[in-house]
Formats: sequence, structure tokens, C-alpha cells
Amino acid sequence: MPYSQGTRLPGETASKLGHLNVVNSEWVNSLIRDFEQSTHSTSDPSNTFWAEFTSSDVEPLRNVWAVDGSFVTVTSDDFPRREISFVKTALLTMDRTKIDAIDKDHPHPLHLQDVMTGSAIFHATVFPLRNIRTSIGNNYDTVRHIIRDSMKIDEDGIFFETLKWIVYQKWDSNPTSSPSFGCPHCGNDVQGIPYDADEGICPECKNVVFLSDMVGFHLDMDEESAPESVSSAYMLIMELLMLFTVIRLLWDHTDKHLLSDTLFIKDGPLTLRSQYSKLVPSIRTFLEYAKQTGRPVHIVGQEKSGSFYDHLSTIARFAPPSERGENLHYAVLTHDYVRKEVYRTPDMSNPYGKRTNWGEKLYVKFDPSTYMVLSVPTGAYNEDVDFPNESNIIGLNRILATLPSLVSHKYEGALFPVELANGIASMSSYPSAKILQRFAMDPR
Ligand SMILES: [Zn+2]
Repeated sequence: MPYSQGTRLPGETASKLGHLNVVNSEWVNSLIRDFEQSTHSTSDPSNTFWAEFTSSDVEPLRNVWAVDGSFVTVTSDDFPRREISFVKTALLTMDRTKIDAIDKDHPHPLHLQDVMTGSAIFHATVFPLRNIRTSIGNNYDTVRHIIRDSMKIDEDGIFFETLKWIVYQKWDSNPTSSPSFGCPHCGNDVQGIPYDADEGICPECKNVVFLSDMVGFHLDMDEESAPESVSSAYMLIMELLMLFTVIRLLWDHTDKHLLSDTLFIKDGPLTLRSQYSKLVPSIRTFLEYAKQTGRPVHIVGQEKSGSFYDHLSTIARFAPPSERGENLHYAVLTHDYVRKEVYRTPDMSNPYGKRTNWGEKLYVKFDPSTYMVLSVPTGAYNEDVDFPNESNIIGLNRILATLPSLVSHKYEGALFPVELANGIASMSSYPSAKILQRFAMDPR
């Protein structure tokens, strides 16, 4: 997803409310008073604990991989409106020593080319969302088959192999079957696909179910149409599979140090919502196993919008560093802090992120005007309200020693590799929407 414009808090917003008649209400008056006051707070009301990072004895990570994705939905002009959705994800790698040589404010195109040459790989597919008929099946089955085929065919199936690697926990020598899931045909529970299989049989209705059905896309669809959320979920899953394809290949690499000398950056939080969270336990198990084996995997997810970003935007100005040249500062957010300060729902019964997150939250402030919300894995999850602390975050020091050289100055709070991946994955590198529309909607 693209970086948004910077948002400096305007000081005079409140006065715009002055002309409303409702200011005669005592309650509205009180609201406006408090609203005006809150823009004048002089300290961080959430008492965030910022720690200073001194990088002198920490070696930065040498290699960087970044992944990003995008999707665009195209609608026909005629009636009934036909709708298809294009999804694109991109993965790129770069040698950090080459990035260091690039001017982050005005990167020279030739330098960029040098960093990028032969280092990017992208994946793209297209889904029918509504009012598209194919001769071999309804919309529901078409999307299911396209998901399976897209994962299996592209790059000779290396991304599909990664799905199997995660689902069947292939880094471990103990074979495991897939998690259970709802059958896409009859809705009954399929108690897992046997180890290493691409598909299975539903014990209830005897129909074939795909391993890709286990991920749960079909739960978002009905027979005749699919919502755009299928595109966004597919994009997120493919970003994950692309990143973990590199992790998988490096895990088996003869040079056992390579994996732990690499930084993996994902656009967005390290989270899989609702049914897609079925992949989370396996991912955590792998990252914990890698940590215990002495081969830590360094991953960061960067959030450029949402509750955490909004919260950090309001408190960042109170945090160090306040002068250029000072050390970067960071704050590891405990579950308790997230509940009380970010979401302000301290009484929620479920521990924060228990089902959905494979990374914990971190605020980082690099210089007076650059700050970021990151998710970084801890491996195993711990539901304690005081979890995590900085010793739980995998590779925190090496990550913090690496990030400053990756900060872009083109967009506020952006990471250079993500910006480049975004450039490859973004719609600007598609043909224009109008051409896509003509291509996709031409009656054959
Ligand atoms: Zn069934």
C-alpha cells in the first residue's frame, strides 16, 4: 500500500467548529473545550517508556528483502456491472552496502537501477468478483481454482511449496497434517489434509478439497460473487508466502549464517485476521524453533496507518531524540500498554493479539521528525500483560542497527526498500485501468 502524505497536526482546527448551532449544548461545549485543550498538551499522556539505542558494538544486517502488494478492481460500464480484481505482489532484495551509497532525498535513477537489477520478482493474478461467468464453473469455484492455480503455477510452484512448508511444519522432522478447516462444498469440518498432500477428500461429502482451501478464502465468498476482501486477503497471504519462500530457501542453504544476516521487511502489520489466522501458530512455531536453534530470523512489519500509527503521531513529539545527531529511541509495547493506551479498552477478555498476531508492537523514533510503528516477532506467544519486553523481541539490536540506513526521505517515515517494492507492486506499473477494462470485458 502507498505511503500517505505526512500529517502535521494543525493548531487551529477547533475554531472551525465555532459556527455550529449545537455549541449551545452544554455537552457539545464541553467536548469542544476538551478538544481544544488536548491539542495543547505538553507531555505524553500515555507515559510511554522510551529506551535509547546505542549501536556502536552491534553489526547491521547485510542483506535486505522487502515485500509489498496492491490490488485494483475494475468494473464494466454496462449493466449488470461485471467486476474483476487484479492482485499484484512484489519481492525484492538489495545489498545494504549499495543502498548506503544512494542519496535518499534524490535517488539517481542509475543508482536505483544498480540496486534493483535482477533483484525483483513479482506475482500477479486476477479474480472474478461478480457477474462473470465461465463455462466450467460458478464464481465461487472459479475463484477457488484460480487461487490454487496461481499459487501452484507461478515460479514452478515455489510459493505453493512454501505454503506446504508452513502448514506441514517441514523444518521439523515430525510430520504434521494441516489444521482443520470448513469444507468449501458442504461446510463440515475437514480434520486436516494429510502431511505433504496438495489436496484431500472431504470425509462428509467426498468432494476434493485443496490445500489452498485450508487458508479460508471461500469463507468470504458466496456462490455468485466474491467481495474485494478476497483480493486483499490473497495479497496478504501472497506477501507472506513470498517472504517465507526466501526464509525457507535460506533455512536450507549451505551457508547457515546467511539467514540470520538478513532483514525481511513486510509492508503492514504481522497479523492475519479471522479465518486466515490459522497460519499464525505454525509461523510462531517456526520462528521460536529458529531462535532456539541459534538461527534468529529478523523480520519487521511496518504499519503506516491505523490505531498505532495515529497514537504514535500524537505522542512522538514528546519523545527523544529532539535534536538531529542524537541516538534513536524505541519503545516496546506491552499488551497492557496496547490495551490501555492505544485501544483504550482495558477490560477486553482476550489477551491482545493471541490468535492473530505473529509479531509484537514497537515504536521507533529515528530523528526529530522520523518515527515508525513496527511489528517484530517474538517466536512463541505469551499472553502475559507485561509481555513483551525488549529481550523477547527477536534480533531487536541488529534490527535497530540496520534500519537507520534504510530510512527514505522522500516520504515521511518510509523505509527505502518498501518504497521500491511498492513501486513494483503498485498499480502504476499496471496498464491503465481503462486498458485493463477493455482487455477484461471484451466479449469473446
Ligand atoms: Zn464436504
